[in-house]
Amino acid sequence: MHLHNGVNREEMKKSQGKTEYFEQDKMQKMQDSFMKANYVYCSFVKRDMERVTEFTSDEEEENFISTLFPVEMQRELVASFSDVEGENIIEMPGKQPYVLNCGVAVRGKKGEFLGAWLMFGIDFQQIPEDVFIPAKILRTGREAFDNAIALMEVILHHYFTNKSQLESLKGDVNSLEKEGKQMLDRLEKTEVLTNVLRMMESEDSFLEVVTNILDVTGNYLKVSNCSLMKVGADNEKVELVCEWAKEETFRLAPVFGEPKKEEVPFMTGRPYTISPDTITPEPFTDFFAKYGIVCGAFLPISISGKMGMYLCFIFMEQGRKWSVEDVRFMNDIKCVVQSILAKRVTKNSLASSYSALESILENTGCGVSVIDLKSGTSLYINETYKSMDLGKEDIAELEEALLQEQQDKKPIEFYAKESNRWFELSFSSMHWVDERPVRLVTIYDISKNKQYQEQIERQANLDYLTGLYNRKRLEEDFVAESQKVVRSGGECAVLVLDLDDFGNINDGLGHQAGDLLLKKVAQALQDIDGIENCCYRVGGDEFVVLIRGRQIDRMESVITSIQRIFTKPWYLEGATYYCTMSMGVVKIPKDGVEPEVLMQRADIALHAAKSLGKNRVEYYDAKQLSSAVERLDLEKSLREAVERGCQEFEVYYQPLIDVTKPNNPCCGAEALVRWNSPTMGFVMPSQFIPLAEYLGLINQIGEHVLLEACKRCKYWNDFGHPEYKVNVNLSVVQLVQNNIIDVIRNAVETTEINPKNLTLEVTEGLAINDMKRMQYVLGEIKNMGVRVALDDFGTGYSSLNHIRSMPIDVIKIDRCFVEDIGENAFSDTFVKSVSQIADALNMHICVEGVEDQKQRDVLGEMNIDMIQGYLYDKPLEADEFENKYLF
Ligand code: C2E
Ligand code: CA
Ligand code: CA
Repeated sequence: MHLHNGVNREEMKKSQGKTEYFEQDKMQKMQDSFMKANYVYCSFVKRDMERVTEFTSDEEEENFISTLFPVEMQRELVASFSDVEGENIIEMPGKQPYVLNCGVAVRGKKGEFLGAWLMFGIDFQQIPEDVFIPAKILRTGREAFDNAIALMEVILHHYFTNKSQLESLKGDVNSLEKEGKQMLDRLEKTEVLTNVLRMMESEDSFLEVVTNILDVTGNYLKVSNCSLMKVGADNEKVELVCEWAKEETFRLAPVFGEPKKEEVPFMTGRPYTISPDTITPEPFTDFFAKYGIVCGAFLPISISGKMGMYLCFIFMEQGRKWSVEDVRFMNDIKCVVQSILAKRVTKNSLASSYSALESILENTGCGVSVIDLKSGTSLYINETYKSMDLGKEDIAELEEALLQEQQDKKPIEFYAKESNRWFELSFSSMHWVDERPVRLVTIYDISKNKQYQEQIERQANLDYLTGLYNRKRLEEDFVAESQKVVRSGGECAVLVLDLDDFGNINDGLGHQAGDLLLKKVAQALQDIDGIENCCYRVGGDEFVVLIRGRQIDRMESVITSIQRIFTKPWYLEGATYYCTMSMGVVKIPKDGVEPEVLMQRADIALHAAKSLGKNRVEYYDAKQLSSAVERLDLEKSLREAVERGCQEFEVYYQPLIDVTKPNNPCCGAEALVRWNSPTMGFVMPSQFIPLAEYLGLINQIGEHVLLEACKRCKYWNDFGHPEYKVNVNLSVVQLVQNNIIDVIRNAVETTEINPKNLTLEVTEGLAINDMKRMQYVLGEIKNMGVRVALDDFGTGYSSLNHIRSMPIDVIKIDRCFVEDIGENAFSDTFVKSVSQIADALNMHICVEGVEDQKQRDVLGEMNIDMIQGYLYDKPLEADEFENKYLF
């Protein structure tokens, strides 16, 4: 909402710490099993091309892939996922007709693109005869590749939805982590089983299919070796049909040979699950020793009731105790292999296929319903589905949803009203054991996820520091409310308020105190009746109150209440501090209806309030718009003037008259800056000093004025007026700079001015909020022998207590008391009593803004030391001043 970026304190620690979103290990594992099951290579890269997982760890494969799918192509593919378009799968024509390249996007919660899984496949049907492709390179077919991509998308969806939801939750971390892990485990297991299930459909040879299955299960179970053994036709010798080994050294084939059936102790027709601590009979011990086996599970596969094969899961390095889950899983796999075998052997063994399928579907961890596409009736539902414990109506509605034609395979969300639970339904088509086309629907209970999601959304709307709503929420509420009033012909309003000089508190007292103040302001705003839910913090120290249509009649009273908040001091770090605020107000539809325009106008009104002296409320009007444009011009020229070395800033001198001496001689001058700008013309300080302070440019300008003034004064002192003093204004912004003392010392030393002839004029701004620092800075100034004047006394929060504890030489009474002096009893008393106190404290009194003789006469009866005003002279150019007062 700021036109400037200078003041927006967004950098005030964003609380969202970055969590590691992409866990390399997990993703690599997922990728490996995916790759082996689908015969495609994948690699995950983040949007900036940082690689999370590699295509392969094999050098030959790596070289092969990088010639056909070079990094430039990968980069191009990643670049084509833009943030705006929601495309999740982008395919790229390969370098050769037989090369398949594709990317699958991973997106964050808001759809922003985070990275992509790059997939690389070789279509074996397209390989020309004269092209040699190393044997170890995986090959796939067009259709299989497409399926793999679709599957990858589904897996990613599950993996990252769970992940992002889990990770951003800040609630009960412990229980969440556990749940998250379980969810991932379940997901991985489901994924493996789904893979295996798909293989059942494969037209490949039995050997190929089983090798794949061993591969996937071996990886999942993290065993050393997975193999299928069979008793030879002679019923005497045992053969190794096929195997998968985690590492080359774990392969049995090179050493296995063809042992006799008696030498293989588990070939009894019974299953064995041997853990490291199981006490094994001698034949087992011998057999294990011979092949380097630590322990393992050995499950018989029977065909038509006869023991024919053994499925072996073997640990060779380190054993592991088999868990109930492991055993169940291995049995599922065994059933699959058995049913494939049975299917191939007998071609028609419905029963065993069905039981294999059933046992898998029972174990997926989610509800499953299989629907006959032709009849639209349910063929099968698993136990999880049955135990979902839904109300009658919910079940009826869910069943209806399951039957609904699904255009795309995207999962849908289903809300069960009666039981107030959310489910995610994923659909896939497949062939049932009897070849019937069916739809398989998996049903996940995502109520928890939904809850998390809501919590996250709630957090996304809140400002972390104050607990008020944030800018995002404001934008939403604002659009909704303005549309509402526009439709109903009503009116609403936006109040933008910004703390005045918040930077002083933040810089002076530290961020902690600044934060505390912001929290207190937020609380006070919320305590105002009727606007509890309409307060927002939108930037560092900027707040917004939305006055809704139904509240519009109360707007004035709300504004008054807000102003009242700031009339009281705040208690921070053991002391009280004052802080005022400025406010800009826009009304809808009077000042516009477009949110963008309105926010900008509210900001313009706010700046108008600031430049009119802060601590006030301004309603937007069109005049401010043009002055805002002017301000932008002003800002640009001001920056340029400073960059060019401040030469455009000319110093004028207004004489100070010593009224304690006869004939009231001049005793020096106040240095007052003017900006002689080639583009803006002659600009008075009130027009650019506040902006220069706001932009931080005042430091350079102020130093320039200080040097100029000291140089002049030294000249006066050398040319007959050793008593002449020069007064230089210091802005609060300058005073809070760490190097302010050095800047002053440097000016004194380079110009060789007598320090006692330099007086620095400061206002109370800093003293109010950081007494300690004020005392320190002024003390250091005094140590140099430089004098200090308290400027504009009587405005602001002047309190005599402050003055007492500060090393001040001169008090300058503000012009406003002089205006009506002799006519207003308060002004008279004020000037009189201040001058008496000053006398008692050994301070001098200077009265500013004396314009006529009448004022001068009244002051003549008071105990005043110096007078400054148009009665004597206006601020003069240096030459003119010198002509008049030097010679
Ligand atoms: P100030 O420090 O209170 O300076 C006195 C202002 O009152 C000057 O306005 C002066 O021209 C004006 N003035 C003096 N006698 C009379 C009078 O009899 N009648 C009236 N109506 N006005 C009188 P000017 O020069 O426009 O400066 C305005 C303010 O800008 C200053 O107020 C001061 O706060 C600031 N300023 C000026 N030069 C500098 C500077 O170099 N650095 C900083 N930080 N602020 C400066
Ligand atoms: Ca001054
Ligand atoms: Ca003044």
